Amino acid sequence: MIEIINHKKNQLINLLRDRGITNEKVISIMEKIPRESFLDPALKQMAYNDDALPIGHNQTISSPYIVAKMSQIIIEEDKMDKVLEIGTGCSYQTIVLSYLFKKVVSIERIKSLHVKAKKIISDFNRNNIKLIFGDGYAGSKIDSPFDAVLITAAPDEIPKSLIQQLKIHGRMIMPLNKNGKQILLRIKNTPKGIIQKEIDDVLFVPMLKGIIQ
Ligand code: SAH
Repeated sequence: MIEIINHKKNQLINLLRDRGITNEKVISIMEKIPRESFLDPALKQMAYNDDALPIGHNQTISSPYIVAKMSQIIIEEDKMDKVLEIGTGCSYQTIVLSYLFKKVVSIERIKSLHVKAKKIISDFNRNNIKLIFGDGYAGSKIDSPFDAVLITAAPDEIPKSLIQQLKIHGRMIMPLNKNGKQILLRIKNTPKGIIQKEIDDVLFVPMLKGIIQ
C-alpha cells in the first residue's frame, strides 16, 4: 500500500512540475504532507489524483495543483509573517501555508468542518495556526493587518473588508465569479489603491455569507 502511495505521489509531483510549479519549497511541502490524512477512508486511495474531492457539507478539498499554484503565487514576495486564509475546509491548504508563513489565521463558516480541522491540525503538531469559526467576510480584525490573504471559496465581488485588513504592499489571491465563470485573481494593495491581475480560469465552491452551527 505504501509503495503504491509513493508511486502515485511521485507521479503527482511530476505532474505539478509539468504544469508549472517550479518553486522547490512548494514542491517539497507537497511531497511532505500526506493528503490522505485529510480524506475519509473511502477516498484515501484517490489522495494523489490531481482532483478536488468531497469533504462533506457539499464542500471540497482543493486539487493538489490549485493548492500548489496558489502557494507558489503567494510566496513570490518576501513578507511571509502573517497570512489569513478564508475557507479552512479540511485544512489541507492551511497546513501547507503553515510551512510557508510564521503565522496562519484560517476562518471556516461551517462548525463541523472547523471542529474536524482543529483535530487534524493537532495531529500535525503545528503551533503557528489559529483557526476561527466565523464568517470570513469579516476577516479577523484582531489579527490584522496581514501580509497576505488567500481565499479558497469564490465570492461575487472582491471583499472590501478583507482588503482593509491587508498591509500596504500586501497581496491577496482569490477566485472571483465573473461573467458566469471563475477567474483566479492576484491583488496587490498599494498606497494608491488595489492593482489586480487575472491568472487563470478556476473552479471553487461559492463564498457564502453567515455561519452554519
Ligand atoms: N482550503 C480548503 C478548501 C476548502 S473549500 C482546502 O485546502 O482544500 C472552501 C471552504 O470555504 C468550505 O469549507 C466553505 O465552507 C468555506 N467558506 C465558504 N464561504 C465562507 C465564508 N464566508 N467564510 C469562511 N469560510 C467560507
